[in-house]
Amino acid sequence: MFATATTVAFQGLEARRIEVQVQMTGGTPAIVVVGLGDKTVSEARERVRAAFASIGLAIPPGRLIVNLAPAAIGALPHDALDGVVCFCEVGLDGSLASAPGALPAAMAAHVGGGLRAKPGEISLAHQGVLFLDELPEFSQQALDALRQPLETGQVLIARANHHVTYPARILLAAAMNPCRCGGGGVGVGACRRGPRCAIDYQAQLSGPLLDRIDIQLDVPPVTAADLALPSPPEGAAEAAARVMRARDAQSSLGAGLNAVLDQASLEKIATPDAPGAALLAKAAESLALSARAYHRTLKVARTIADLDGSDAVPRIHVAEAA
Ligand SMILES: [Zn+2]
Repeated sequence: MFATATTVAFQGLEARRIEVQVQMTGGTPAIVVVGLGDKTVSEARERVRAAFASIGLAIPPGRLIVNLAPAAIGALPHDALDGVVCFCEVGLDGSLASAPGALPAAMAAHVGGGLRAKPGEISLAHQGVLFLDELPEFSQQALDALRQPLETGQVLIARANHHVTYPARILLAAAMNPCRCGGGGVGVGACRRGPRCAIDYQAQLSGPLLDRIDIQLDVPPVTAADLALPSPPEGAAEAAARVMRARDAQSSLGAGLNAVLDQASLEKIATPDAPGAALLAKAAESLALSARAYHRTLKVARTIADLDGSDAVPRIHVAEAA
């Protein structure tokens, strides 16, 4: 006896259609899973056994050969699952629970393919903030892996015979001390190992990675005198409201937030006024800005102007961005 059912396996964002083929042959009673199934698939044999027992069905005697995933046979006519994609979790009591990923599963009705690979932190932070504290402490490999997603908003994982793509549109925020011992610089609490300590520590971050970080700020240590100052007139709630207004203004233009603007849209809405353009040209030359850094500077200037409620991008905003 031979029966088939259809289910899906995830490969990053994509769901691939999997056909479950089950054949019953004579011989020692057993459920044998063949193919490239992972641990979950091979463990499914035990789930099926328990589920069958719980709902009072006997597993047909004989040897069940399952190609890739388990399927309910014996209790169903062989064509009962034609045109149906099965996607759920089998409970030991025989119940079927929903499983996450129903949308890509539905989208998979027309595709075919393979398995595996997991999203990392950067994909779990998709559409959100990824905060990395003490950035230079991360391995070179981890830091290098940030470059591509910062550029494209996606993580591409190469496997032996296929590629897996995960979404990774993030806002990367990172912090670091000036040197490994924390002090760096000069004055009270400065590092005692001398400037080499800070130079070596900061050299952990490659030029191409820093080139993809739009805003880099030196934050001086907070002193006791700072704490005695009156709090600033704009508190966190007011600042958050101003950020929301700027985001709404950006979204209303229809091209997306400034960070994801393509070059044409950027030129249309972020071209600075004449003094601003002159300053940007000068900064590009003296700071030897890469093409990427040049456009990022424009985006930051446009964003500063948005936060200021300004339609134009005047020189002062370019100056702050550069
Ligand atoms: Zn140090």
